[in-house]
Amino acid sequence: MNAEFDGRTAVITGASRGIGRGIALELAQHGANVVVVYRAEEKLAKQVAAAVRTMGRKAMAVKCDVSIPEDVTELHDTVLAELGNADFIINNAGIHQHLKSWELSDEDWHRVMDVNITGTFLVSRAFIPHMMERKSGRIINISSCVAFTGTDHEVHYAASKGAVLGLTKSLALELAPYRINVNAIAPGYIETDMVVFEGVHDRESVIKGIPAHRLGQPEDIGRAARFLCSRDSEYITGQVIHVNGGLIMY
Ligand code: NAD
Repeated sequence: MNAEFDGRTAVITGASRGIGRGIALELAQHGANVVVVYRAEEKLAKQVAAAVRTMGRKAMAVKCDVSIPEDVTELHDTVLAELGNADFIINNAGIHQHLKSWELSDEDWHRVMDVNITGTFLVSRAFIPHMMERKSGRIINISSCVAFTGTDHEVHYAASKGAVLGLTKSLALELAPYRINVNAIAPGYIETDMVVFEGVHDRESVIKGIPAHRLGQPEDIGRAARFLCSRDSEYITGQVIHVNGGLIMY
């Protein structure tokens, strides 16, 4: 039997580990070929690509710093030359930094903005003409629950993730006539290398505060991404799916 995403290609940034890896494996399980975009962790990225290949899909690991326009252009050219199409763009690469606002240097501010919002824009912009030409495509941007709640220890991160929502809605408006859907996922606490409890939160009290009484896993985000790539979400665009075990509700 054919899988739903047979012959489709997903380009997933920051896919060498964590949530990006979870999305890569989930989409591959449902038939997608996967481009594992990584900045530095070549070995891990190649492992994810190998895992995708064992499922019978095509996969490639491509080095690209999403904040560098030349890297993004090269990513676009490589993907289209090697795989021919790009159906799903998942803007997942992100960084954060636990500092109070008054401790942030100009450089700290710009680095987080460069990766989280500029990178999301650059990768989207690179692939939009290809998707417009084909009148088909899905873009999924990974935001965060802190875009809604704020946070008292990384204002630049929260601001960048709020900007991702503005970008998502605006791209959705522009691209709906071309049958390109653009949505965001706002994760709560997902158990990855990014979530550092020491010095900021106590792990057990965080879990107690989550109505589902567990941290999320990358697979939880993977399944939401799969839905947003599927035919079942054809009429959904410009929206945010909160995946957080009930932590916040909008
Ligand atoms: P992670 O740190 O494991 O993964 C982030 C990935 O992005 C890494 O592979 C990293 O190498 C990559 N990356 C960083 N800078 C990059 C750059 N300039 N170019 C290309 N890749 C780059 O963390 P994660 O939890 O898997 O985070 C994935 C996304 O989910 C991020 O956007 C993060 O902000 C968001 N998020 C995570 C949580 C959580 O609880 N884990 C909550 C809300 C949102």
